[in-house]
Amino acid sequence: MSEVVIKNADYVVTMDDTRATIANCDILMRDGVIAEVGKNLSSTGEIVNAIGCVVTPGLVNTHHHLYQTLTRAVPGAQDALLFGWLQRLYPIWSRFGPEEMRVSAQAGLAELALSGCTMSADHLYLYPNGARLEDTIEAAAEVGLRFHPTRGAMSIGESDGGLPPDNLVEREQDILNDCIRVVDGFHDATEGSMVRVGIAPCSPFSVSRELMRDAAILARDKGVMLHTHLAENDEDIAYSLEKFGCRPGQYAEDLDWTGADVWHAHCVKLNCQEIDLFARSSTGVAHCPCSNCRLGSGIAPVRAMRDAGVNVGLGVDGSASNDTGNLMSEARQAMLLQRVFRGADAMSAQEALEIATRGGAEVLGRKDCGQIVPGKRADLAVWDVSGVESAGSWDPAALLLAGPNKVRDLFVEGRQVVRDAQMVTIDLPKVVERQNALARRLIE
Ligand SMILES: [Zn+2]
Repeated sequence: MSEVVIKNADYVVTMDDTRATIANCDILMRDGVIAEVGKNLSSTGEIVNAIGCVVTPGLVNTHHHLYQTLTRAVPGAQDALLFGWLQRLYPIWSRFGPEEMRVSAQAGLAELALSGCTMSADHLYLYPNGARLEDTIEAAAEVGLRFHPTRGAMSIGESDGGLPPDNLVEREQDILNDCIRVVDGFHDATEGSMVRVGIAPCSPFSVSRELMRDAAILARDKGVMLHTHLAENDEDIAYSLEKFGCRPGQYAEDLDWTGADVWHAHCVKLNCQEIDLFARSSTGVAHCPCSNCRLGSGIAPVRAMRDAGVNVGLGVDGSASNDTGNLMSEARQAMLLQRVFRGADAMSAQEALEIATRGGAEVLGRKDCGQIVPGKRADLAVWDVSGVESAGSWDPAALLLAGPNKVRDLFVEGRQVVRDAQMVTIDLPKVVERQNALARRLIE
């Protein structure tokens, strides 16, 4: 039996059903699970002093392309709209291989961990030069985060009128076969699972209608989740109307891409009927505010989605379109963007934190995570609020309104991943050095 007790936190933000925040509180973790939350808890195990700290559930990232941490701030892609941005980056990504996938996943996940993230999805939709999904799964196991990799895919290359170069697309039968291979090989459906695999054609404009339909059938057959990009910007809507004769929501519904086992990234351009469809069908949304700003896509109607009952989580999106991977900053950006759109009362700090924690866990189908409640998995972020960013603050909401945006300690399944703002699971300076060497090789 392994126990860790967090003692005397200034506040514990539980995200339980009453959204309780408890002052002067302890948390006892036992064998990867939260055993008790309350005052004066004792344990024979390790004691972590949390005086001067706020403890929250670990943040959950519902959309990323980890491989893109190797292509941040690429000249020529810094100021382009989505389609032009993709065309600049595709030729660079086509030179990636297994090592690029593994090292960039380690760097991206470590960056997330340091910002309070305990669980991340990833959307890997290109497999050049022998790269495989397990390159990222192995990286996540080393870093120690809970991981929901999705087997992405593109099948419509330039010669078929698509955007990606032909050498980055795959045959649709090969895609489906590899989906079966990675689900059978790596998906763990059990409670407390550290790896759940999803199926995720890149977007409606990079695969055929048949592959979208077959992916949905396969996911239902295997009991895994479905993910893709949807309704990201005006170009995306125009493409859907022209090619499919309908809006993205209709396309998704027609192909069985709605339901509690589906989540779509972005959804910036969902209209009222589509929001209603998502709410009725329990379809989830990965809201990526920084990426939407960076690519000028627009402001997702998150207030309207939440009011309608849509499950919304947060995503940092790939590091080629953010270009950072700080999930706490992303939560702040989500809050600020709704206020730009709808006024200062459009979203509270508490609600933004809820979307970043419990909301994301629900989008990923993880009822066992995202709350500091006995019986839930011990995924916790400990924030030191004794520093200058928080000096003079009156309320734990300062975590989003002020800072800090880096954790002091992070626990995943009760295991410490970050201690005193340093990674303890991997040699991060070494990963960064290797990452920079790989980036230099791509630039040459
Ligand atoms: Zn994306």
